[in-house]
Amino acid sequence: PFVLEARGVIKIFGQSRALDGVNFGLRRGEVHALLGENGAGKSTLIKILTGAYQPDGGEVLLDGAPVHFADPLHAQSHGIGTVYQEVNLLPNRSVAENLFLGRQPTRFGFVRRSLIEKNARELLLRYGLDIDVQAELGTYSVAVQQIVAIARAVELSGKVLVLDEPTASLDKLEVEKLFEVVTQLKQRGMAIVFITHFLDQVFAISDRVTILRNGRLIGTEPLSGLSRTDVVRMMLGKDITFAPA
Ligand code: ADP
Ligand code: MG
Ligand code: MG
Repeated sequence: PFVLEARGVIKIFGQSRALDGVNFGLRRGEVHALLGENGAGKSTLIKILTGAYQPDGGEVLLDGAPVHFADPLHAQSHGIGTVYQEVNLLPNRSVAENLFLGRQPTRFGFVRRSLIEKNARELLLRYGLDIDVQAELGTYSVAVQQIVAIARAVELSGKVLVLDEPTASLDKLEVEKLFEVVTQLKQRGMAIVFITHFLDQVFAISDRVTILRNGRLIGTEPLSGLSRTDVVRMMLGKDITFAPA
């Protein structure tokens, strides 16, 4: 029973196949790492699953039924939120505005600013952030901004959360903080896709991994059955020798 699934997905750019018949299935309450070398097709697969690209073959299924997402907003309306490496929010607007911007207006046509701010504070406290929501978002660290972006994506969508290299510019403590949030969401039943180049982080947080190489699916496995060497071998298609410590 997959929440979101790709079946035999093909994506062609010019002469090259970025994805060549890829299967991918995401379950409720799991953190599913998507791994592969640069150019393997990870972002392309995610973009197809979230409506940013249309597949040239194969299909996407939502709760078991074929679905065509016209664009990311359409996917979002079906419960699928995405957070990218670069924070895609507005640094010059307040934290509260960033959280609630672009939402349906109420039937009164407006929402009181004080109510938005109260809601924003309560929401962020649930993510462990005790901050001034009237301050401009850009005055906070990238880590805080990423958690605001996640809170926004979860509140807007709520079923699937895609994290495409969210930790690229975070320090160790900030990564831990982010992982606390991710763990909490997973326990609430969210299905989470996690893309990163850091194997340590994959082993710290993921339940399953899917590995792509040159646009092809190499495998999907529970992480508990894999060693680091296994993962690297699957990613590269060969063994590499680590220099002795
Ligand atoms: P990854 O995220 O694993 O690094 P991508 O999905 O970004 O890989 O890229 C997979 C392949 O598709 C690469 O060869 C890349 O150059 C190509 N590609 C991705 N997006 C485009 C695009 N918009 N136009 C042309 N080629 C693209
Ligand atoms: Mg890349
Ligand atoms: Mg990528």
